[in-house]
Amino acid sequence: MVDSRPLILLNPGPVNLSERVRKALLKSDLCHREPEFAALQSSIRQQLLDVYSLAPERYVAVLMTGSGTAAVEAMLTSLMPLDGKVLIIENGVYGERLTRIAEIYGISHIRSSHEWGAPIEIPALTRRLEEDNAITHIAAVHHETTTGRLNDLGEISSLCKERGISLLVDGVSSFGAEAIDFEAWSIGACAATANKCLHSVPGVSFVVLRRELLPSSESPKRNLYLDLEAYCRHQDANGTPFTQSVQCYYALDEALSEFHDLGGWRARYQHYHNLVQQTRDGLRRLGIRPLMKSHDSSVVLNSYELPSGFDYETFHDQLKENGFVIYAGQGELAKRIFRISTMGAITAADIDRLLQAITRIMGAAS
Ligand SMILES: *Cc1c(COP(=O)(O)O)cnc(C)c1O
Repeated sequence: MVDSRPLILLNPGPVNLSERVRKALLKSDLCHREPEFAALQSSIRQQLLDVYSLAPERYVAVLMTGSGTAAVEAMLTSLMPLDGKVLIIENGVYGERLTRIAEIYGISHIRSSHEWGAPIEIPALTRRLEEDNAITHIAAVHHETTTGRLNDLGEISSLCKERGISLLVDGVSSFGAEAIDFEAWSIGACAATANKCLHSVPGVSFVVLRRELLPSSESPKRNLYLDLEAYCRHQDANGTPFTQSVQCYYALDEALSEFHDLGGWRARYQHYHNLVQQTRDGLRRLGIRPLMKSHDSSVVLNSYELPSGFDYETFHDQLKENGFVIYAGQGELAKRIFRISTMGAITAADIDRLLQAITRIMGAAS
């Protein structure tokens, strides 16, 4: 049974869709071997480069059907040369997932582990790089959705540039809403997805990368389905190696048009910024504290201490009865925090209603 009452999704994707994007799902049936599909695919690839005004001579967007993790796995397994070694920065679940991928595929790696939510220690990182000159790549998460921490890619990139190291970024929960300076930060590749800050449906993910990082088609492969080189080669020739989720492509194309119509990433950043300030201010008045300072957090998601007297399940279920879906903390944080994401077609009026609902729930409990 599906409840017909619309829920406001405050989880970090999938997001509430605009009517414009929802309607795009109902376009005509289409074969992925027809020119109409090629045009749709090219439109999405171009619009993805336009998000950060990237030059098509140097950068390329490669699409695949899968969730964000598919793009992250494709990035690491396709771009790490067999004789390469990657230093993986961990300060949350998604950094640790990068390590898990490297372990599974036997990619040579070392870890720079931090506590969840801790800032990246640049002096320690510099020492690791000095001790080990086999390191060819650094992999890092931009926005660590575990806590809301926005990692400082600018700082990491200066270490990379000095040493000719390539930077591979999990930008799944920041692409489209936070500043990502591909040129200044010498980003080699950034993996992301349709259903977070770009406000489309889950099903398509992508990697935006420097063309020069793609291996040749003859070089050894780690896998078949997540091979970025093959996807890119086929897409450059207006084709696709496998069946793609056509309806998800329709929706992403529309979501990107809407994104550009609304003013691009800067406008989205500002919109999220306003919503997150409204949320933080409102919750603070109710005695609910944020886990992190504003300037350490993304505008995409913030974590908050659970109000005293509530466990997560009770708080979640009561808010859901009021039409809002919040998100649990992961691991050790599950008992202490809840998370609120500002992604998707949500407005200041929605946040007002959320704050009213929390006020009522806390009032009823005291
Ligand atoms: C959401 C997310 C992912 C991917 O999750 P999927 O469930 O595969 O879409 C990866 N990295 C980060 C930082 C994320 O927030």
